[in-house]
Amino acid sequence: MRRMDGIKTDQSDPLAFDLSGASNSFMPRQLYRAAVMSAPHADMHVEELPAPHLEPGSALLRVLFSEVCGTDVHLHHGRLSGVPYPIVPGHVSVGVLAELPTPIADVNGEPFREGDVVTFLDVHGTCGRCYECLVTRQTTRCPHRRVYGITFGAGEGLLGGWAEAIWLKPGVHIVRLPAALSPETFIGGGCGLVTAFHAVERAEVRLAQSVVVLGVGPVGQSAVALSALAGAERVIAIGDPASRRDFARRMGATDTIGLDVPPNDRAARVRELTGGRGADVVIEAAGAPEAVSQALDIVRDGGRVVVCGQYTDTGDVRIHPHWQINRKHIEVRGCWGSDFSHLYRSLQLAARFGDRVPWKEMIGGRYTLADAGKALGAVERREVTKAVIVPA
Ligand SMILES: [Zn+2]
Ligand SMILES: [Zn+2]
Repeated sequence: MRRMDGIKTDQSDPLAFDLSGASNSFMPRQLYRAAVMSAPHADMHVEELPAPHLEPGSALLRVLFSEVCGTDVHLHHGRLSGVPYPIVPGHVSVGVLAELPTPIADVNGEPFREGDVVTFLDVHGTCGRCYECLVTRQTTRCPHRRVYGITFGAGEGLLGGWAEAIWLKPGVHIVRLPAALSPETFIGGGCGLVTAFHAVERAEVRLAQSVVVLGVGPVGQSAVALSALAGAERVIAIGDPASRRDFARRMGATDTIGLDVPPNDRAARVRELTGGRGADVVIEAAGAPEAVSQALDIVRDGGRVVVCGQYTDTGDVRIHPHWQINRKHIEVRGCWGSDFSHLYRSLQLAARFGDRVPWKEMIGGRYTLADAGKALGAVERREVTKAVIVPA
């Protein structure tokens, strides 16, 4: 991908978090403040929740940043099933390990220490014993998995990121941030980065292929960046508004198309850019059902479509099986959630390329716990691509 010059490094960024003395400034408390979503559409409010009893294998994370993403907006509208309101939202967070009652080691066997800057896989309790885990080996479909900030109730404790501290239960998969990766670069990518990692892997993007990414939100932006890093010759981003298309170019898009262009003309433009054939790979990260039909129209014969943007039920769409699928001899793949492998490798990649892929700049607003409702509103109104909660 093109070198992105003029991007500020972590060292020169006045907004970069000061981690000096991060470990010794923490004093354990009985209560920690958390932003609580009591029910769909209810105003956010701050509550004090009790410190967890830290059983062996658990840990307490002092939160530096927790992201506000489209999923949180869906939560606020009650669009996800099985959510035990009231909840403390915030599924992807980064922080400092504050308390470790017993030794825990990372995936490489290296012990964690208090003061380490870490994140963790928001999915907890993937069982390793069910049909999905053992036979079909699609652990993101394990029915026993629970998700921090989504499927834990506030009554169960500090199990969401919009809080001063998070209770990392025994078995939570914790990862240390590589030294070269700033907490802000990671949280700027956030769950969109990890989701896009899974999607681009599902898409099996190969060197010199053409990729279309539908959607220029956080997932789409990272899908653009990762497709470019994967060696795509052309990366075409389709979506609105214009500012996000401009940003997609900085993430690695070679071409962009706005939604003011009618769907048929968008498909024609993609063919024009791909030797008349259509794209080798189309990644749908838009969320609108129509985007799936559009993906089928702009993929080349024998190409591949990955659907990862239909995270909530936003309705159906008409698809013509003969013209759009069968006759085109294409492959359509769904992509649900992400696992530890995607998180771990996302961190390594963001550490390696965070100086030239402007993940950090996707953060458009920082909010205190008391302003969590404002953060939700800003994301919903698309005033910012990504907002973060800064509890401290
Ligand atoms: Zn399972
Ligand atoms: Zn998210």
